Amino acid sequence: MTPSLSPTTSHHVAVIGAGAAGLVAARELRREGHSVVVFERQKQVGGTWIYTDHVETDPLSVDPTRTVVHSSVYASLRTNLPRECMGYLDFPLVVRSGDPRRFPSHGEVLAYLQDFAKEFAIEEMIRFGTAVERVAPESEGGNRKWRVESTETEKRVRRDEVYDAVVVCSGHYTEPRLADIPGNLKICYLCHFKNVEEVELHRKSGTDKFLARKEMHSHNYRIPEPFKDQVVVLIGNSASAVDISRDIAGHAKEVHVAGRSNAADTLSNSPIDRFHEDGSVVFQNGKTILVDVIMHCTGYKYHYPFLETNGSVTVDDNRVGPLYKDVFPPALAPYISFIGIPSQVSPFRLFELQSKWISGVLSGRIILPSKEDMMKDIKYFYATVEAQGIPKRYTHRTQFEYNDWLASQCGCSETEQWRKEMYLTTGVRKRAHPETYRDEWEDHHLISQASQDFSLYTL
Ligand code: FAD
Repeated sequence: MTPSLSPTTSHHVAVIGAGAAGLVAARELRREGHSVVVFERQKQVGGTWIYTDHVETDPLSVDPTRTVVHSSVYASLRTNLPRECMGYLDFPLVVRSGDPRRFPSHGEVLAYLQDFAKEFAIEEMIRFGTAVERVAPESEGGNRKWRVESTETEKRVRRDEVYDAVVVCSGHYTEPRLADIPGNLKICYLCHFKNVEEVELHRKSGTDKFLARKEMHSHNYRIPEPFKDQVVVLIGNSASAVDISRDIAGHAKEVHVAGRSNAADTLSNSPIDRFHEDGSVVFQNGKTILVDVIMHCTGYKYHYPFLETNGSVTVDDNRVGPLYKDVFPPALAPYISFIGIPSQVSPFRLFELQSKWISGVLSGRIILPSKEDMMKDIKYFYATVEAQGIPKRYTHRTQFEYNDWLASQCGCSETEQWRKEMYLTTGVRKRAHPETYRDEWEDHHLISQASQDFSLYTL
């Protein structure tokens, strides 16, 4: 059995990150009676949704000594989910700032998260500008505790504290994953231009640097202007590859998306075979083109540089494990947990349910299975993933059944039918009409049902 907690036990909990996951975790933990400190290395709430024109010193983001920029959001980004599907249950993402569109810009989502933090007085729990550098278990009087070492960057204050529990909400769209393709390319500096004026100035200066650049990750993409008259190859089938290729298409000379066709000027419908030093790219269909820029839109890695668990939690081929239901490592449960590991579905709602579950388990109101049973469940799950031929790196892709399971643990209602249908129909429209799905739709009846539900919370 996991350590028995008397119901309504209150704990001192460290939450790492004040993005969409950390904010709702803080709210739910406090609602359950825990005392909470949220560590946030940025100066405001919002995580991924804080747009910045800064990019990393290494455009490929492989240099471990680079200064890390957290957000991957680019200037033109609009959500890929309709606003009705995005919000937390009791705080819907209704129109709030200057962007009333159904698939709004990143600024609208940030405004929403800021409003959420204000509404529930979450900022008073947050230590801004404070990076967690080390989290490790330790024994105190026979009880397992967590040592949390952090630095308040500006004041250079280091803190070394002990907490009963840690909830990791540090996000997983910052550490890029790269396509492993033979060949070596030069580094690309394109992404270092912060605005159109800088690009123009540089062009006029006529330096060679502008032409010598070659390779970057989409994490460092912000605006399309630097790609004017360039031949660009994007690698990947992700939402970013589709969106960024369209963003660049109006400026670049040619845009090729490796592995899928695209409505940009020139099409390549084949994966890449290898790179050459002279800047050419050979596709698996034998076609060779001379390119100016390769952009890896190949996703991100789970990465917890601050976490020391003696092997109780590892990341192997992008599987974080072993984790019971993507949240609790059995050996350390329930005193360390992870929010936001599953990808897909409606992220904010999922974070909210995971937060409720963790809060209830910590207080002893919700009981976890024994360590052995949790491990059995995890092994069975991994075997199912393997039997279905799903690569290990996709272990954390989830469906709505997962949300519903969490809801059942927390005594919440299942995902609303309209939300499921809206999510699925949006996916279908996105694949069929990537260029228009954000502005044209037919699911008006689902929008009405959502509005009806939201009126409970917004009137
Ligand atoms: P984050 O938002 O990344 O927040 C993590 C926080 O932890 C950050 O503020 C970071 O500074 C902090 N942190 C990290 N490490 C430390 C440390 N050591 N010490 C202190 N603080 C730390 N989702 C949708 O629902 N709809 C969309 O349309 C959508 N589009 C997306 C587009 C892009 C390009 C990306 C990258 C993601 C998109 N997502 C979308 C997913 C989005 O990431 C999630 O919705 C959600 O915002 C993630 O929240 P999070 O709190 O888990 O992580």
